[in-house]
Amino acid sequence: MVTPLADDVWWYDLTGTNAYLVDDGALALVDTGTRFHASELIGGLRDAGFELRDLDRILLTHYDMDHVGGLSAFDGVELTVYVGSDDAPFVTGEAKPPLSNHKGLVQRLGGPLSSPPDNPVEPLEDGDTVGSFTVYETPGHTPGHVCYVSEALSTGFLGDLVVERGDGRFHPSPWLLSYDTEAVARSVRSLVERAPAFDVAAMGHGVPFERGGSERLADVVERL
Ligand SMILES: [Zn+2]
Repeated sequence: MVTPLADDVWWYDLTGTNAYLVDDGALALVDTGTRFHASELIGGLRDAGFELRDLDRILLTHYDMDHVGGLSAFDGVELTVYVGSDDAPFVTGEAKPPLSNHKGLVQRLGGPLSSPPDNPVEPLEDGDTVGSFTVYETPGHTPGHVCYVSEALSTGFLGDLVVERGDGRFHPSPWLLSYDTEAVARSVRSLVERAPAFDVAAMGHGVPFERGGSERLADVVERL
């Protein structure tokens, strides 16, 4: 099942994690849940009125097994996978997360729950554009974490930069789940300063917001 958040944006409420579908002229899936969500991801496309072959791209916010685990469900579909350049080697399997960081260790343990996709993986840098979306590097939760903001759709995909915990507010990604919480704080500030205003704020965990996304993010900075 998918829930519309705006005219061209849909929310997948997967068990414990979120993914999104967005149509800005090209159809993109934003994050892919875990490997156990494959049939829900494909079913959601149909709920939104699309076919599997309509999917043009997958935008990943970062490498974590609850965001990349469903990638292999799309092997055989002609599409491109986009991910921040510092997380790209983990997605392709060219490198493994570092054991020197507590979060890297968590990612290593989750490694068997994801496998590299057959589709081409395009690494992204800060300021790159994909369709109507601008890429903002927001390291901290993972080194290559990125957010995607479309002014045209008034939508920001925030990944795990911030979470919502049932209290209707954003909170920065916590230490246990982050490489570097100070970097998370810097990334939230920098996104607030640099991104255009947007209404729909769609993150990896919690209930996404249909209105006032950038103001809600600015409120996190006030509380840092
Ligand atoms: Zn996550």
